[in-house]
Amino acid sequence: MKDYQSALDMKETIIFCEKHKDKLLSKLPKSNKQFPYEIKNENHVQLDRNIINGILNLMPEKVRDKSIFNGIIGKSKHYFHKNSTSPSNMTDTPHIEDSISKTAIVPGKSSGENIYLYEMDLDPNLRNIVLAQAFAHEYLHSMNYNEDEILNFGELAEKYEPISTYSSFYREKSNEFYGCDLDTVKGSVEEELAESVAAYLLGFAFGNDDKKNLDPFKDRVEIKEYVKSLLEG
Ligand SMILES: [Zn+2]
Repeated sequence: MKDYQSALDMKETIIFCEKHKDKLLSKLPKSNKQFPYEIKNENHVQLDRNIINGILNLMPEKVRDKSIFNGIIGKSKHYFHKNSTSPSNMTDTPHIEDSISKTAIVPGKSSGENIYLYEMDLDPNLRNIVLAQAFAHEYLHSMNYNEDEILNFGELAEKYEPISTYSSFYREKSNEFYGCDLDTVKGSVEEELAESVAAYLLGFAFGNDDKKNLDPFKDRVEIKEYVKSLLEG
């Protein structure tokens, strides 16, 4: 594994989730309402349906009106490919032998309208924690925030280290967001935003410090305020 590829490896995150399982599970929202969207390949979707609903219910109405989210599609196990050297050439593979490591698992993806949730070799409690975070993250990608909203967030976020291990993949060594052109930079900022929205909704993040993970805005109150105003403003 190359140094930067550790950002795509969930090894430390899985250890964190195991260690704080009860606390993290208690943070997951639940609702037993009927899920109002389509779920395809249901048998591959390992996230508790009540948690999916619970997360959706956390989204303010304004957010849900603006979102182009259309449904969930279950996928079989995938890993980040060992040839993933930067955000511009990230690829994944179903073959563990081509992966960065056996814990470089892909939890979710988004096409904008659809959220893909992937199967993974974790116990059901850990799957729920990891996939809940993935679902909250991917939902952000169904929002069409305008350029100013994204770039203003990026400017604020650059004052801090990445909120999560995953979003650190989208930073340069200088802590600036990755990318030589506006679209690439925006894409990088959106990953930090998606991780911050998930942290805001769920109250935890997957970074490299357990204390911060359980109180992800402790060192960045202005980021919390920005996310709050973006969702509720
Ligand atoms: Zn993302």
